[in-house]
Amino acid sequence: MSNTTNYIQKIQTKIHENDPHQPEFLQAVDEFLSTIAPFLEDHPEIEQNDLLSVLTEPERLLQFRVPWQDDQGNWQVNRGYRIQFNSALGPYKGGLRFHPSVNLSILKFLAFEQIFKNALTGLPIGGGKGGSDFDPKGKSDQEIMRFCQSFMLELSKYIGPNLDVPAGDIGVGGREIGYLFGMYKRLRSYDAGVLTGKPLEFWGSLTRTEATGYGVVYFVKHLLADQQKNIEGRKALVSGSGNVAIYAIEKLQELGATVISCSDSNGYIIDENGIDLSLLKEIKEVRRERLTAYVNEKASAQYFEGSLWDKEISAELAFPCATQNEIDEEAAKRLVRNGVSVVAEGANMPASLEAANYFVSNGIYYCPGKAANAGGVAVSALEMSQNAQRLQWTFAEVDARLDGIMKEIYQACYDTAVNYGQKNNFVLGANISGFEKVAKAMLRQGLV
Ligand code: NDP
Repeated sequence: MSNTTNYIQKIQTKIHENDPHQPEFLQAVDEFLSTIAPFLEDHPEIEQNDLLSVLTEPERLLQFRVPWQDDQGNWQVNRGYRIQFNSALGPYKGGLRFHPSVNLSILKFLAFEQIFKNALTGLPIGGGKGGSDFDPKGKSDQEIMRFCQSFMLELSKYIGPNLDVPAGDIGVGGREIGYLFGMYKRLRSYDAGVLTGKPLEFWGSLTRTEATGYGVVYFVKHLLADQQKNIEGRKALVSGSGNVAIYAIEKLQELGATVISCSDSNGYIIDENGIDLSLLKEIKEVRRERLTAYVNEKASAQYFEGSLWDKEISAELAFPCATQNEIDEEAAKRLVRNGVSVVAEGANMPASLEAANYFVSNGIYYCPGKAANAGGVAVSALEMSQNAQRLQWTFAEVDARLDGIMKEIYQACYDTAVNYGQKNNFVLGANISGFEKVAKAMLRQGLV
């Protein structure tokens, strides 16, 4: 066994021993470590300085109580978190997730992946993530507001435009960012750049709402263009029906694909005529209803309970845009059997380690979330630039920059994979090219 392999195994064992009850975090670290050996061979200074031990330990980890009152006057308490994982490249940057499943393991995996994703954008941002086990489903607007205000009352002590800049994620969109920003402003000052994903009425960036969904499609557009192919005329599966899914569907349709599915945590829709996007937006963004409403209003659609990925259905492109670990190895095999040749992750870590390995070893163009869904955070960083300039760029300008950034990310993944003799292994490409930037910055900053 080579020295490098020994070193990686030593780190892996240590992390598994330190945090045995954090399966998602361990999964993200294992995936990362499984790809970086060839880079470590070329860069002995990483092992000499034991940089992997420093890298895998969050710089700061905050957990706090979030008390709030429901509409009946009852006292409620949730857990709030912020993981400030790595600031080598800039202020911590990463979303807030409000979902009952939120815990330290999930947020640490998200923050860890965010480090490399942010590095891939080429923009000056470090990695962080946060959120709460608060469930926004079924809550009134007033309850959402009171929760956000209480959450920010504590979080405001630890964030700032040059320190840590949160944004949205599952369960946190423009409405929540608006309430969070209002409270921050009241407590501190009008620091527009303290949060991104702000509504357009106050310092938000055009294209931020669309950025993650558009970005994942741009990534695939550049991948296909490299092979003199395009998206037009292809059949696509999309999971999820939130922010990322909706705008992935919008861009896919604009580029001529037929998107036949979307889903939520209860079930999924198949509409062979193509998803009716204006109806989907009306149900999810305006009425905030469940997906079952779609089939009541669309005769061509069918609703099924369970996971979209359990269905035998033919398609060429798959865009998992809901949540982590939605595709297991069985589902991966099913997709490949049914003709899927490109899997592009709008969600973070939607494929299990086994599923991801299956895609890579079977020649599928597998585009990992840390590269393919980086468009959201990239436009967040552009929002910070606009806020600092006190300007608002046009939709077309931000969209063109987003497309350009996704092209560069694709190219970096591709070139790095080729460079290490593993053409089309975008997991390796994304991990090594993201890590290279972070590692160099960390080494130059010394042991901090
Ligand atoms: P939203 O809250 O807008 O939508 C989430 C969607 O995923 C909903 O359809 C939701 O269904 C579904 N979902 C959530 N949890 C589960 C679950 N446990 N099982 C099945 N379905 C589930 O979130 P986003 O669209 O913003 O985020 C989706 C994914 O994209 C996440 O992985 C997120 O981390 C990632 N991402 C988001 C970015 C952004 O800019 N927003 C940036 C980069 C990545 P239901 O309504 O039933 O809960």
